[in-house]
Amino acid sequence: MGATPCSTKTPCLGKGDLTNMNPDLIRELERRRSMFNKIVQAYPTCRNIPPSFLRSLRVSGGQQGIYFDKASTSGILAVNESITVSILHTGHHCPDDFSDSYLLYHYPDTRRRGLDEAEIRATKNAYNANIPIFVITYSQENPELRDVFLGFVEGWDDASKVFLISIGSHWIDSRETPDLLSEELPPFQLTTQRQGQESTFSRNRNDQPLFRFRVFQRYGPKCAVCSVDRIEMLQAAHLRPVSRYGSDDPRNGLVLCANHHLAFDANLFTFDDSSLKVVYRPQGPYANDLQITVSSLKWLPKRPHQKALAWRYRYWKRMVGL
Ligand SMILES: [Zn+2]
Repeated sequence: MGATPCSTKTPCLGKGDLTNMNPDLIRELERRRSMFNKIVQAYPTCRNIPPSFLRSLRVSGGQQGIYFDKASTSGILAVNESITVSILHTGHHCPDDFSDSYLLYHYPDTRRRGLDEAEIRATKNAYNANIPIFVITYSQENPELRDVFLGFVEGWDDASKVFLISIGSHWIDSRETPDLLSEELPPFQLTTQRQGQESTFSRNRNDQPLFRFRVFQRYGPKCAVCSVDRIEMLQAAHLRPVSRYGSDDPRNGLVLCANHHLAFDANLFTFDDSSLKVVYRPQGPYANDLQITVSSLKWLPKRPHQKALAWRYRYWKRMVGL
């Protein structure tokens, strides 16, 4: 599980256009680059770093999840607006939240008056400023120590209360694909060529957090067939599974709670692609047995792609012998 910490290669100059940037923002970018260089000089693999070292560089401020270093970053973008410097990923949520390429980072929920909100705003400001942040994780070898990655905030979903952070190991000044999460989806693809060429998949595929994010963004943080709406209990299910070359297009996905994801993958229920009704095996189990509380997917604000539902319905009939 988890990403590979930054490499010892010389940090490269990014491709961002610095000429139009606010001078304070350029100074902050230089400050972060210098912090990153000091980390690499002292800990070339960016692994197993004492938290006190990160605090001394002002990469982190202590135990809290989001650190925006008000003294250094407030006022760069606007009065009373700060820019997140680092986030601490504790790994308490689903393992699918973190891969080599992406981190799904949950909004702070500590109910500290105003602070959670300020931290969320500061992290959105890191996106607006297109500036790298430090992603800090507990070292797998020694939880007293920290590993450090570079990240860019790629977007967020207020309903699901998550940020999508892309993970990198080399310094760049700005991310190259700022519109990763554009609402406009490309033409639907049910299968993925890349996956078709591979013979095996690890469960922790690099783009799993991205798929989760886009599925939550499309359907909202609620199980499609029951009332569970705690994000900790929700998963992004594929209609055409990855093992059958199904794509990571969010229209090939659906939000299901962990229980209903298991039942769905065990073919205990499916959906009729024309009526959108929940369909059960003739011998059961039925809605009551499975605690499914909706009769169809019609309540969803957005629907899965018809081709994905149709593929799944055909597949299900074959699997249950109909
Ligand atoms: Zn459910």
